[in-house]
Amino acid sequence: MIEMLNVYKKYPNGITAANGLSVRIEQGEFVYVVGPSGAGKSTFIKMIYREERASKGTIKVGDFDLITMRDKQVPYLRRHVGVVFQDYKLLPRLTVYENIAYAMEVVEKNPRMIKKRVLEVLDLVGLKHKVRMFPTELSGGEQQRISIARAIVNMPRVLIADEPTGNLDPDTSWEIMNILDEINRQGTTIVMATHNSQIVNVMKHRVLAVENGRIVRDELGGDYGYEG
Ligand code: ADP
Ligand code: ADP
Repeated sequence: MIEMLNVYKKYPNGITAANGLSVRIEQGEFVYVVGPSGAGKSTFIKMIYREERASKGTIKVGDFDLITMRDKQVPYLRRHVGVVFQDYKLLPRLTVYENIAYAMEVVEKNPRMIKKRVLEVLDLVGLKHKVRMFPTELSGGEQQRISIARAIVNMPRVLIADEPTGNLDPDTSWEIMNILDEINRQGTTIVMATHNSQIVNVMKHRVLAVENGRIVRDELGGDYGYEG
């Protein structure tokens, strides 16, 4: 599903954030990406949805070759790869419904299908009753649920999450994790960068530890492995 081979990323300032990454992630896996601040976790994750381009190496996501792919093809990739951020990134002037529907409108689905699917994903995240609200009227945990609903509305095969619980209290973080686990059980591959040691140690999944732009540990059901 996701394949990286000898991937390097050098930023224009000279920093090498990926220093020979090779990894294979199969369809349906749940993978945590852990490591110290500045280790290259975000860079790794951003290269999977082509927010950053690799400087060298091979990256394949499903049928997409991210190295040869042109920028104008990136929207097609994003139909298959949903993304969730630490700070939610909802559009403040749109309602909950509109935030989610917008992701479907840009891929030109018909209005009836959009309405049905938006209500379906809202149901999955338990927030059908907040459909007319604006993001500022919601708690952080609710905003994250909406951002997850938006990320999966087009049924992507991969869901990328960059510190999805980074701004949330422990109870709310667990609610978010339970939703991600349910999405994973429905067959979606999940790749999640996190600093949350408790979650990694309790909800066991594959752990990729990144340090200095390299994968230093790749362990099924592994521990977080850092102070935390
Ligand atoms: P992490 O997510 O593990 O904190 P990052 O991938 O964000 O690590 O960063 C890895 C290294 O690359 C760090 O040294 C960081 O300062 C650098 N870096 C990240 N993004 C950029 C950028 N856009 N331009 C230049 N350097 C960057
Ligand atoms: P950055 O990568 O931007 O330098 P940090 O590494 O300090 O920032 O942390 C990124 C996010 O992860 C922050 O929101 C922080 O609150 C959270 N975080 C850091 N360490 C932990 C931890 N041990 N447990 C839970 N959350 C953490």
